[in-house]
Amino acid sequence: MSTSSIETKSTCCYCGTGCGVIIESRGASITGIRGDDTHPANFGKLCTKGTTLALTMQPAAMIGRARFPEMRTERSMPRARTTWDAALNTLADRFAECIRTHGPDSVGFYVSGQLLTEDYYVFNKLAKGLIGTNNIDTNSRLCMSSAVTGYTQTLGVDAPPCSYEDIDHASCLFIAGSNTAFAHPVLYQRIDAARAANPAIKVIVVDPRRTDTAAGADLHLQILPGTDVALFHAMLHVMLWEEWVDRNYIDAHTEGFEALRTLVRETSPAIAAQICGVPAADIVMAAKWFATSAATLSLYCQGLNQSASGTAKNAGLINLHLAAGQIGKPGAGPFSLTGQPNAMGGREVGGLATTLAAHRDIANAAHREEVRAFWNADRISSERGKTAVEMFAAAKTGEIKILWIVCTNPAQSLPDLKEVRAALQTAELVIVQDAYRNTETIAFADVLLAATSWGEKDGTVTNSERRISRVRAAAPAPGEARHDWRIARDFGRLLEQKLRPSAPSMFDFDTPEDVWNEHRELTRERDLDITGLSYSRLESHGPQQWPYPEGAANGQARLYVDGKFPTPSGRAQFFTAKYQPVTDKVDAHYPLALTTGRLRDQWHGMSRTGSVARLYGSAPEPRLTMNVHDLARRGFQDGDLVQVKSRRGAIYVQAEGSQTMRSGQVYLAMHWGKRFLGGADSAGVNTLTNPAFDGYSRQPELKHAAVKVEPAALAWNLVAFRECMNDENLVIDQLSALQSSVAFMSCVLIGRERPGVLVRVAHHGAPTMDWLAEIDKVMALAGANVLRYDDDRRGSARRMLVADDRLIAVRLSGDIAATQSAAWLRAWLLASKSVAEIRRLLLSPVAQAPIGLPLASRAVCQCFDVSESAICDQLAAIEGSSVERLQALQAAVKCGTECGSCIPELKSFIAKIPARVVEEVA
Ligand code: SF4
Repeated sequence: MSTSSIETKSTCCYCGTGCGVIIESRGASITGIRGDDTHPANFGKLCTKGTTLALTMQPAAMIGRARFPEMRTERSMPRARTTWDAALNTLADRFAECIRTHGPDSVGFYVSGQLLTEDYYVFNKLAKGLIGTNNIDTNSRLCMSSAVTGYTQTLGVDAPPCSYEDIDHASCLFIAGSNTAFAHPVLYQRIDAARAANPAIKVIVVDPRRTDTAAGADLHLQILPGTDVALFHAMLHVMLWEEWVDRNYIDAHTEGFEALRTLVRETSPAIAAQICGVPAADIVMAAKWFATSAATLSLYCQGLNQSASGTAKNAGLINLHLAAGQIGKPGAGPFSLTGQPNAMGGREVGGLATTLAAHRDIANAAHREEVRAFWNADRISSERGKTAVEMFAAAKTGEIKILWIVCTNPAQSLPDLKEVRAALQTAELVIVQDAYRNTETIAFADVLLAATSWGEKDGTVTNSERRISRVRAAAPAPGEARHDWRIARDFGRLLEQKLRPSAPSMFDFDTPEDVWNEHRELTRERDLDITGLSYSRLESHGPQQWPYPEGAANGQARLYVDGKFPTPSGRAQFFTAKYQPVTDKVDAHYPLALTTGRLRDQWHGMSRTGSVARLYGSAPEPRLTMNVHDLARRGFQDGDLVQVKSRRGAIYVQAEGSQTMRSGQVYLAMHWGKRFLGGADSAGVNTLTNPAFDGYSRQPELKHAAVKVEPAALAWNLVAFRECMNDENLVIDQLSALQSSVAFMSCVLIGRERPGVLVRVAHHGAPTMDWLAEIDKVMALAGANVLRYDDDRRGSARRMLVADDRLIAVRLSGDIAATQSAAWLRAWLLASKSVAEIRRLLLSPVAQAPIGLPLASRAVCQCFDVSESAICDQLAAIEGSSVERLQALQAAVKCGTECGSCIPELKSFIAKIPARVVEEVA
């Protein structure tokens, strides 16, 4: 029976831009997605990640979904399927016993910025209201807690004062610590459109790397990692010297300026130039553009936040806005970008260990009493809760005995993973509530609670510009999976019977709307008052910005237009903090500065984006990016396997040279966890990173670690790849299970319409034949019809599966020479070419590709699958201005004409590749 197609309005579930989407579904299946033309965050645009969301709901990607609860009674046993009643009753018993014996702070909840506001609210009430612990923190701690403290320390409350529409009004854009072109591509397109409409707009980018965002700027301050505070102080020094500060604004609306002026007196551009590694003249230029433009808008993200000086960096930038009067007017102000879809919603409900509901303060007795009375709770603890890094440290020492992890993957995303994994092994009970059962953290779960995910949930989210959107379900829950808010509510109802049996229930919610209405009431007369909003108003009037108090006709696009701030004095506060260098010192033993960041087409721990083969197109495998000269000096070539060591651990990864890095610095994308980049002693990128955190925000310094890079010195190598039949994500899981026997293993998806898997392995010597047999089994190379070649003398082997005259699977192993034909064989397999002409080459280690076979180059444009080599070939033949060359390129191969995410990269190619001068033959 055919069913008709249905359209459902919702939002994208990745970055904090909060793009509106229209989900197309048929029956129980999500069949398509497009941007919502009416949503003010994106006006119909989506980036590569958003446009492929429907692919993450197809059967091949759903293989990793959790569909029912599982539990184990002994650590040494595997989990077994159980019922929801059994799981939740067991948990209620364990919690009640633990709380009675060890107190409420013996349990901890680690939740997520991916949760909806309603989910967040119920978990927060469960921990702080019913149990009486503030040990509830969120992965947003790793993302934006320095933005929170930056705002509160200067402007009084955690409220971003700007809107996306300010991009259209700005005459200077100051982008600090944000590769907006990759991390917030739709916003970047808005910036591009504003610059096209007004070419006089100045764009300054502060970033240690020459990212695509930096390459497109008028001024790139390529500072040394962690030196932002020195830069901001020097800019203020210049503003004071040149009388570019706004004295009237400072006098009328701020306090604390004298102390700051004294502090920055010594930080001249010449001194800052030495600290930051940029020319003094560029610092002066940046200060001039920032202070003297008609309206300066700052956009900033993890480069400022993920730092042991994160609050000082955020506040240092806000200082500049206050000193120059660049706030409270169209196109001006400090605007933090959130990395997660609903980090802001979590901040609103107080879903952090350091805050209470609706921007209230745990340290404030009146605030605690307001929340206690509203919830009819016995007490609200006055003790600040354990934040992310602290919570896992407390689990390792046994202070926290039960950890409940919701919709996040700390065994991939927290710094210093060796310690985190030890904590997960030490905790007496680990509960993981997640939509996916193949994340790195699931391996530690004693109880797995299957949760619904994007496209299946109903509620609200708030994006970076304080805009609340409705999120709606378009597909049913898979299997027995349940909504996060409901799991927390049902558990809360069971636990309250044990902790306060005669009291009325604190969890009297039947729908997400019931939850949201209660949350809304807590915001009354707070800075984020949303008492004028309701689900029905959000449905009839569309997404709205807070504050939106009862009786208001609209939300507020811009805050502090009257120069009044929510501080005790009504004035904004200048924040005075000295520049502090990064905590993990670069020295002779660890001579390189590692920074981490985002890829354009992957998101966070890759549990969702990592299931779609085409999203690997632009960055096919984990790579350590090094300065080209540093690479050559160490005798490495592109693709060589190296060992990267920090003071906390080591990983193996392939290296590549790049002009985007300064000498002395290296870069790794933060997405690659153990599932994709592992080995016996490696848990992925965060094996290396530094858990030191900011004293105010408690956000760890994920952006910088001192490392050394050495040859891998692993004698035995394997490269294998295969085509898959909708089982590619299962194959990755099966390969990951074999990691512990070898020093290095990376697994990625390859292909597009015909996805496959590629695995690389390296080890000190040849592994056992049993282990190799397992690899062959998983890679479809165990059958009798497989072509085989073994050179026992050299210890090398080749396995090929050919079917219907096409290559289906390949394994090459032995010394590095034995794997040298991997690149062209892989290209052959992906091109699905007949093996007739290469049959004699299949079993010989020929490095050179057969004539006429273009080796696979990475796909720059995902929408139309246009490769880097195709783009470079086209550009070599196109003359004209950069605008004309882009237009001609797009007309020729269509790249960048759909979602537009690749346009910044196309522009950087245009800048790098001159048109080839073709001499006419007379
Ligand atoms: Fe999603 Fe991309 Fe929009 Fe971010 S910019 S919300 S990832 S579509």
